Parts: sequence; structure tokens; C-alpha cells
Amino acid sequence: MWSVEIVEVEVLEKDERNVRLLIRGVDVPFVNALRRTIISEVPCMAIDEVVMIENSSILQDEIIALRLGLIPLKTDLDSYNLPQECPCKSEFGCNLCRVTLTLDVEAKEETRTVYSGELKSENPEIVPVSDKIPIIKLARGQKLRLEAYARLGKGKNHAKWQPVSMCTYKYFPKIEVLSKCDACGKCVEICPRKVLAKTENKIEVRNLMACTLCQDCVEVCPQNPPAIKVEHEEDTFIFSLESTNALPPERILTEAIKILDKQFNEFEEQIKVEKGEES
Ligand code: SF4
Ligand code: SF4
Ligand SMILES: [Zn+2]
Repeated sequence: MWSVEIVEVEVLEKDERNVRLLIRGVDVPFVNALRRTIISEVPCMAIDEVVMIENSSILQDEIIALRLGLIPLKTDLDSYNLPQECPCKSEFGCNLCRVTLTLDVEAKEETRTVYSGELKSENPEIVPVSDKIPIIKLARGQKLRLEAYARLGKGKNHAKWQPVSMCTYKYFPKIEVLSKCDACGKCVEICPRKVLAKTENKIEVRNLMACTLCQDCVEVCPQNPPAIKVEHEEDTFIFSLESTNALPPERILTEAIKILDKQFNEFEEQIKVEKGEES
């Protein structure tokens, strides 16, 4: 059972691709477990196998397959199974664990770039997140024909299955300007994130969230000991993630929580079994 008792989550920013949360009442192992689960356990779709029918370009088949694998694909976690969990138990896969995409392109007149938008998917919901990802350049007369199979997978097996391009956390800063401060303004000038501001004869904290805890303001303070203290809250974190657009950011978070919950339940069951065996 997870030991965290009361967790408060505040959404600081959210759009279709990014989310930034303020999480209170947790510790480093919790936020790091959440981050690692998002990166390595939340599945998404990626091209995993390519059958090359014709390739007269200058790139080898393997390089083209690698490039195709790294194109993020829109993912539908409710309609597809992970290959290892699919009832078909087939190495080749079935329509519940595999999506076929085809590419049939030729540079007829002049050199041209082939883009991700030219991949044709059997499922219009499972397509590249952008049509503008370059795959290859073809010179006049060169052709590329292939069939590609996309499957769900996890980031722990290959980075192409990571649903995020960024997932980080940082401590929530705590800044205190002491009464002995003479408002010389040196800390304001040195702060690279414009966290502090000087108003009349006072130093104010204007943008606390932007503080990186670099301590430059403390080091520059001419007073000894410094008239400014920069610390962090022990149980509060700013958690940020940027989706590749394979899945909405909120779905990535809820999937990660579900996975963590399942893993802890399994762990608890195993401990019970171990204890039972010993007694
Ligand atoms: S550098 Fe020190 S004394 Fe100067 S304004 Fe900042 S906190 Fe106050
Ligand atoms: S610790 Fe660094 S970022 Fe934070 S207020 Fe001081 S100088 Fe600015
Ligand atoms: Zn299957």
C-alpha cells in the first residue's frame, strides 16, 4: 500500500500537449516513480517492423526502418492490446495488436522529400502526429515501396515507445528576504529568471515558480550572512510533461497512476505470499 496520505494536485498549465502540475504531500521517491513510469511503462504505438518491397533510394532499408520507427503515432489504448497480452498469441499479430501502414512513393520529375503524411494507415485513427516529418529524399527516378507494422510497446524496450518528449520535476522553491536587507538590488540584477524585483526600498518575489534554486542571489548578497534565503519545500514539486502527441497528457498521467497502482498491489500480494510461506 502506498504510504502517501493526502496528496494535493493543482494544474498550473495545460494545453493539448503539455501539462504542469503542482503536487503537494509527496516525496522524491513518489514523483520519481511517476516520472519513470511515464517514460518507461505507459505504452504507445510505433512502427516496429517494415517489409521493404522496393527501395531504390540511397538509404539502406535498416536506416529507413529506424526513421519510420521514430515517427510518433496517434495511439488508441482502448482498442489495441500490447502484443504480449493479445489473445491472438501470434508473432505476426492481429487487428487487435497491429496496424498496417503503407508507403508507395516515387520521384517522377525531380528530387523530392517524402513526408510522414504520405504513410497510408489502415486505421485513420492511428496516423503520424504530424504530416510534416521528413522520412527521406528521393532523386529523380528513385522509388520507395514498403509495408510497415505498428504495435503498442513500452519505453523501457525502446525510446520510440516513450509517449513523452520531456518529463521532469523540480522542488518547489521557498524564498525569504530578511529584514536586514538594505535593498541594494544586487540579487535582482543577477537572477537569470527574473524571480525578484525591487520596488521602492524593498525586494519582492515576483515569479517564485521560475526559480531554479541556483543560489546566485544568495552568493551575490554583500551581507554576511546573506539577507536572502533560498530553500525548497520538502514535499512539494512542480511536475512537467510534454507529450509527443501520441496520447493526451492527462491520459499519460492517468495510465501511469493505474500502472503504479497495479504494481504496488502485485508487490503487496507477493509480500503476503512470502509471509504466508514463512509462517
Ligand atoms: S543582495 Fe542582499 S542586501 Fe542586496 S537587495 Fe538582495 S538580499 Fe538585500
Ligand atoms: S536562486 Fe537563482 S533563480 Fe532563484 S531567485 Fe535566486 S538567482 Fe533567481
Ligand atoms: Zn493480436
